[in-house]
Amino acid sequence: MPTLLVKNIHTLITMDAARREIRNGALFVRDRAIEQVGTTQELPATADEVLDLQGRYLVLPGLVNTHHHFYQTLTRVVPAAQDCDLFNWLTTLYPIWAKLTAEGVYVSAQMAAAELLLSGCTTASDHLYIYPNDCTLDDEIRAVQEIGMRFHASRGSMSVGESLGGLPPDSVVEKEPDILKDSQRLIEQYHDNSRHAMTRITLAPCSPFSVSQDLMRESAKMARLYPGVRLHTHLAENKSDVTYSLENFGMIPGDYAESVGWLGEDVWHAHCVQLSDDSILKFGKTGTGVAHCPCSNMRLASGIAPIRKMLDHNVPVGLGVDGSASNDAGNLIQEARTAFLLARVRDRDASAITAREILEIATLGGAKVLGRDDIGYLAPGMSADFIAINCDRPQFAGAHHDLVAALIFCQVHSVDYSFINGKRVVDQGRLTTVELETLVEKTNRIAQGMLES
Ligand code: ZN
Repeated sequence: MPTLLVKNIHTLITMDAARREIRNGALFVRDRAIEQVGTTQELPATADEVLDLQGRYLVLPGLVNTHHHFYQTLTRVVPAAQDCDLFNWLTTLYPIWAKLTAEGVYVSAQMAAAELLLSGCTTASDHLYIYPNDCTLDDEIRAVQEIGMRFHASRGSMSVGESLGGLPPDSVVEKEPDILKDSQRLIEQYHDNSRHAMTRITLAPCSPFSVSQDLMRESAKMARLYPGVRLHTHLAENKSDVTYSLENFGMIPGDYAESVGWLGEDVWHAHCVQLSDDSILKFGKTGTGVAHCPCSNMRLASGIAPIRKMLDHNVPVGLGVDGSASNDAGNLIQEARTAFLLARVRDRDASAITAREILEIATLGGAKVLGRDDIGYLAPGMSADFIAINCDRPQFAGAHHDLVAALIFCQVHSVDYSFINGKRVVDQGRLTTVELETLVEKTNRIAQGMLES
């Protein structure tokens, strides 16, 4: 099995139980997993592949993205949806999304993954919930497998259209038996629950205002038949979302989730901006996770999720960039910085959250939310997923006394190296697995077609 040595790391940020930050650090990898962590002097002097970072790079665990809609890369900055709140934004975009094709799913998935990889993400979850024309989740899985990112693919769904009181037009919803049949097929075809798995499946009915309570219950029942298959949806995103829940179910969103069996260690909800204090306690007690998406929440004026309160009540919190049409970026390390700043604004307290706590949310937090015990920190036996960032970049000038905090305080836009499952996916700031210029061209061509037709 091939070995890899990364040596002369300026600071190795392990995120392990002791939160060790090792000066002149090194990592020794065998095949897909880390075998040794320590100083350059302590580790073997050589390996099949050696990366000498010459004391000029920080290395940390790859960041984890817990909520996204890759296909929305094709509908960024749509003029009619630029200044809308959540429900108006959705109803403006549904007819455009109805033109999505299998090719669009494939290309947008690679484009979104490329943006994530270049900004430090090594594991992502994506939520594809609209399947018009020839779209399947298979094309997205193939796209991400080819680009080399660790991937949790969510089989999303919408089944309650306008005629039944839902938000989406009837033309983009599916029949519930078809959704469940395809969900089972995808789990049996792709879900890998083994350690260091690169592909896992999640079941993800889209939101309270686009699926029935029955589909929520049936999806939960099915997911729980298969070890490692998790549940994901949108919850309590803004005030209209809460109003819809009260009017249609007679319950606030947290109680709605509980009533359909959607609290538990195998569940995580996106946003939770308007989660009540009582629901936060229930999430903490049951281990129900939250994907915090600060840029999207600001962009759609949904509000600021109370992540300090969530952390204080033991709610697992991870970061999500959310879909590329409501961010409209997919830069995970920048999302971490935004989460950091916004948590302080929310509580009007400059000590509400520290830079190192945000790094924990972006790595350990995301791993917990996705139910992984093989990623999120660097230690023997863990997956070899890590990123390296050059300390000499202008944004770090004057901050060398605490470069770990500088990762969040200062503006880092991209990484120099990224290894996933022991493979070099970003090398000197460039992707090794796709031709980026061609990918951008294809994305622009498909996006233009969807807006014009
Ligand atoms: Zn979303």
